[in-house]
Amino acid sequence: MTGDFGVRCADVHPTGCDRTLRAQRPDDVVELAREHGALAHGFTPAWYSKQRLATIAAAIGLPVTELAADDAHRAAGGHQRRTRQTIEP
Ligand SMILES: [Zn+2]
Repeated sequence: MTGDFGVRCADVHPTGCDRTLRAQRPDDVVELAREHGALAHGFTPAWYSKQRLATIAAAIGLPVTELAADDAHRAAGGHQRRTRQTIEP
């Protein structure tokens, strides 16, 4: 555990942007995401509604290193960690 949190821009904005925003604390990641969204993509403060911020916070729940590997099950709707099983032939 590094204690670092992060989220990819595209996971919390409809941008397709590949930038990953990282910080030591989840709250800071939310702030970074808002700042980056405003500066890089022109999202207004109003765009970050309570519901969107909650979605962003949920997306940050995983350490950065987990984000890439967990695309499949997160796309299916969950953000909880699951034990992966490797089936050997
Ligand atoms: Zn971006």
